[in-house]
Amino acid sequence: MKSAVLENNRFTIKELPKPILDEYGEGAIIKVEGCGLCGSDIVKLQQKLVPDGSVLGHEVVGEIVEINSNTPFSIGDRVVLGHHVPCYYCQYCLGGSYSMCRHFKSTNIIPGGFSEYIYVSEEHLNNTVFNANLSLTPIEASFTEPLACCIRAVKRARMFDNSKNLIIGLGSIGILMGETVKAFGHEVFGCDLIQDRVNLSLKLGFNNSFLIKNEEEILKEMKKTAPLGFDTIFLTAGASSSIDFAVKAARDGAKIVVFSSIKNDNGFKNNDIYYRELTVMSSYSSSPVDLEDAISLLEEGRVRVDGLSTVYSLENINEALSDTISNKIMKAYIKI
Ligand SMILES: [Zn+2]
Ligand SMILES: [Zn+2]
Repeated sequence: MKSAVLENNRFTIKELPKPILDEYGEGAIIKVEGCGLCGSDIVKLQQKLVPDGSVLGHEVVGEIVEINSNTPFSIGDRVVLGHHVPCYYCQYCLGGSYSMCRHFKSTNIIPGGFSEYIYVSEEHLNNTVFNANLSLTPIEASFTEPLACCIRAVKRARMFDNSKNLIIGLGSIGILMGETVKAFGHEVFGCDLIQDRVNLSLKLGFNNSFLIKNEEEILKEMKKTAPLGFDTIFLTAGASSSIDFAVKAARDGAKIVVFSSIKNDNGFKNNDIYYRELTVMSSYSSSPVDLEDAISLLEEGRVRVDGLSTVYSLENINEALSDTISNKIMKAYIKI
């Protein structure tokens, strides 16, 4: 089968052996329809966080073509999935830190979503595989996993009624995050350096969004919306300058939710956090219940993803990669 294999910070299309269900016993083989290219895939590739030869991709939509399972799934089911499964009984899981569970981190789909076929275990079928409503297009369904990550972040932030909330960075994740904040009944504002992204956020229901040209000017402009500063700030931009901007845009006592990796890791300042009673927190990945919630929000049309994706073939995955990195596109969907 064809797979996009990591090699020297790029993808190379190679023939890999198709996973054989008998070798695993229980589980299922899924024929991948398509898979979203996630920002975390790009970080893993650029920073060589996974070895050459690996297959990335986890925002999968596909069809079950072989199965040996005690679950109700059967051949022909169209499914979406999460790639990691929490154990539910360790100290991390008991504390609600499902994405920190060591079992969560060690479980995965095989070999990865940028491949014609993947194997998922019985444990995945029991916990993180879901039937994708046929009313959703494959592209819409492929947003289940990234949306679930946003849902977890929004739940963890525990926003209050009438709060004013800001998303810094209106890439696909920033947009999804904002739509999730809205779906949970709160006001949401956005900011970005790119006008098209500001426009798209407004089209998808943000209360307002700001184009950042000059930081000081925009902070002044934001004061008209949130005179004391924003109550919750989601950092989805991945630029180190956004830390300082987030602190300036925050109300005293606000929460800042870190939701992206930053290349040159520089930190929040101790005294900003202390004297201004800021809560700096993060949210990482999603749990099975967030995946279910994500499917509901997509099915009910409460989170819309139209206009976010650009479709590429597996053969053109390197173009998808460079177009995403250069901000030429918002989000790549790799049609397998
Ligand atoms: Zn993802
Ligand atoms: Zn656990």
